[in-house]
Parts: sequence; C-alpha cells; structure tokens
Amino acid sequence: ESVVNRIAAGEVIQRPVSAVKELVENSLDADSTSISVVVKDGGLKLIQVSDDGHGIRYEDLPILCERHTTSKLCHFEDLQSIQSMGFRGEALASMTYVGHVTVTTIINGQLHGYRATYRDGVMEHEPKACAAVKGTQIMVENLFYNMIARRKTLQNSADDYPKIVDLLSRFAIHHINVSFSCRKHGAARADVHSVATSSRLDAIRSVYGVSVARNLMKIEASDNELSGSLFKLEGFISNSNYIAKKITMVLFINNRLVDCSALKRAIEIVYSATLPKASKPFIYMSILLPTEHVDVNVHPTKREVSLLNQEIIIEKIQSAVESRLRNSNE
Ligand code: ADP
Ligand code: MG
Repeated sequence: ESVVNRIAAGEVIQRPVSAVKELVENSLDADSTSISVVVKDGGLKLIQVSDDGHGIRYEDLPILCERHTTSKLCHFEDLQSIQSMGFRGEALASMTYVGHVTVTTIINGQLHGYRATYRDGVMEHEPKACAAVKGTQIMVENLFYNMIARRKTLQNSADDYPKIVDLLSRFAIHHINVSFSCRKHGAARADVHSVATSSRLDAIRSVYGVSVARNLMKIEASDNELSGSLFKLEGFISNSNYIAKKITMVLFINNRLVDCSALKRAIEIVYSATLPKASKPFIYMSILLPTEHVDVNVHPTKREVSLLNQEIIIEKIQSAVESRLRNSNE
C-alpha cells in the first residue's frame, strides 16, 4: 500500500517547485498578507513556507495530512471549482509520502502554537506546544528521499530554484496586496522581495525591474455576449520598446496561476504581425470566467488549462491586444 501511495504522491508533487506552488496557494487561501519561502538545495533538502494567515486549529492537526482532508469544500458550488483548482486535500498528504513534513501553526489570539510532524499521511506524535508569532510555517525536508530515481534525475538536472523564483515572481505581481519573499537558505539577500502595494505597476517594477515596467501598457476587455458574462480581462502588455529573447506570459484565470499555450501562441502571433521588432512580449493577464468554463483537462496538478469557447475567447483577446498595440503606434 505504501508504494502505491508513494507513486500517487509523486504524481501530485512532481518536483520541488510543485510543492512550493501548493504550499503558497494554501497560504494565500489562509488570507495571509505576508508569505516567505526559503529553499535549500533546489528544494530537495528543504522547502519552508511561512505565512501570517489564519492558522490551523489544534483539533485539525491530527488529520491535516490525510488524503482528502480539506477545509475548503463547504458549498455545493465548490464542487465546480474542484475542476479549476486541481485535487482537493491531496497536496499536503502527498508531501508526507515523499518527504518529511513539519507544521508549526498558531491561531490568532492564542498564547502559543503547536508543532506537528508527519510521515506517510499520519501525524507522528501529539502536537507539541511551541512559541509562534502568527500564521503557519510548513517545512518539507528531504523531498523524494524514498524515490531514488526521481532524486537522481532532479540532482542531475539544473535545480528548481530558478523555477521557484519565477513562480513567486508571478504570484507577487498578481496578489499585490500580499508581500512575498523568496531566498536560498542562508542567503542574506532575497531573490524575490515584494512589498504589499495597491499599484500593479509598482509590483511589476519591484519584481521584474524598471526596464519591464516602464514599457507596459494597460489592457482591459470584457464580453457579455455569450451566456451572461463571458469573460473579463485586465492586464499589462509590453509596447514596441520592450525587446526580449523570449515571451513572458503571466496568466491568472479566476485568480489561479495557469498556463494556456494556445493563448500564449495567439498573442505572440499578434505581436509578430504588429510589432515584428518586439515580437517577444511581456504579458500579465488576469481573466475572470465562469468556473465551469475552465477545464483542467491535461492533469489536475499541471498548470495547463483549456477553456470552454476557447477560440472565441482567444479571438477577443487577440483583437484587444491588437487594437492596443495599434493605438500605441499612432
Ligand atoms: P486543499 O488546499 O485542497 O484543501 P491541502 O492538502 O493543500 O488541500 O491542504 C489541506 C488543508 O490544510 C487545507 O484545506 C487547509 O485547511 C489546511 N492548510 C494547509 N496549509 C495551510 C496554511 N498555510 N494555513 C492554514 N491552513 C492550511
Ligand atoms: Mg492546497
């Protein structure tokens, strides 16, 4: 049974960066305003995510890392969103089958917090009382210690740290009311360091730099033609002065970080046709759609999504981008 569990867990948590994504999304779901990530050895030795969110109740700790334990399935409508948010109650459980998980947490207003450790879906012993400031800290150590081949493959390739920095950068420019940091264990300097702000452009400037931010234009689009409200789009796209070697596409659909390669390609085509010299744009887009229109058909833990009425939506976005680019040229 434990081999089956481990293999299933290895599917949910495929690499260190997938663990970081799940942990940070949990911190966001806990209404955190500050999230910091520390990584050692590309995440294979240590991933530590600390937040100042609402914390985890003592009585929830024993079952926290059991499969399908979730505090987020309260309403029937939420069943719809299972589709768009991947597995429910699988992430933490999975991490305990392929790594050593330690949770330290405190509920607002309590005098002390608790620390619990987990292996293979079970809490190892009674939670221990401990000092804690606010929120939750989750540590995953020795990821894939029991999956020798996976560990070797990961050790032989470039480590996941750049992917983790990229991930946190994306979160930081979408969730601008949350401050994010990401650093290597022992490093004095953080590689992502964003402070909460009300200006998206400020957030982009602080994370991606002045040269990106100064060449951005705001873009907005919405459409109500099909079935009530079809979609609403807000974002920033780069102008003709932004020259890069590859496209950067930061895409949030219904506030979840996703990839949509069809949309990315479609936007690149518009840029190539309109601004051939600046054909590798920087794109940040936040799209709101009815949840049932978003389909994670590839794999629930992958970022790739496809959309209902995808062609129509992509065409709308293409024409919004195109008219924005043409207007800026005049
Ligand atoms: P899911 O996010 O799908 O509910 P997870 O396995 O990712 O499943 O997490 C299980 C549960 O653990 C969550 O539903 C939540 O109640 C709790 N949890 C996890 N991380 C945190 C956190 N940082 N702060 C508060 N609660 C958390
Ligand atoms: Mg989760």
